[in-house]
Amino acid sequence: MTIICEKFTVHTKGNTDIIDVTNEVKNLVYRHSLKDAVVYVYVAGSTVSITNIEYEPGLLKDLPEILDKIVPVNKEYHHDEMWHDGNGYSHIRASIVGNSTMVPLLEGALQLGQWQQIVLVDFDNKARTRTVHVQILC
Ligand code: ZN
Repeated sequence: MTIICEKFTVHTKGNTDIIDVTNEVKNLVYRHSLKDAVVYVYVAGSTVSITNIEYEPGLLKDLPEILDKIVPVNKEYHHDEMWHDGNGYSHIRASIVGNSTMVPLLEGALQLGQWQQIVLVDFDNKARTRTVHVQILC
């Protein structure tokens, strides 16, 4: 088995900024002209996530609204008592949503659904630059 390691950076505004990174991933994968592989997409950081969503205006409002209910910004978090960085909610949201996704490559095509995009969601309370690792196992 071979592992091809790629990466790219994303500039975010923070505050549950949802960024479609599907084309970045596709470009990195398709330049290798592979047939079958496993494509693993991972973001480094404890206040940021990688997940899948249909990237359309309704869901881009629904996801933050639901997360606001489950993990509100204005709650007292032990993390904030300890570190005073005000982003306890960011860490919890990132833990729940997760920091990676995996997509099969079959017959040279990433097996994403028609309305399924790969997104980076930055939950931190400020703008950040994130590194996304794409590892291709073939
Ligand atoms: Zn923190």
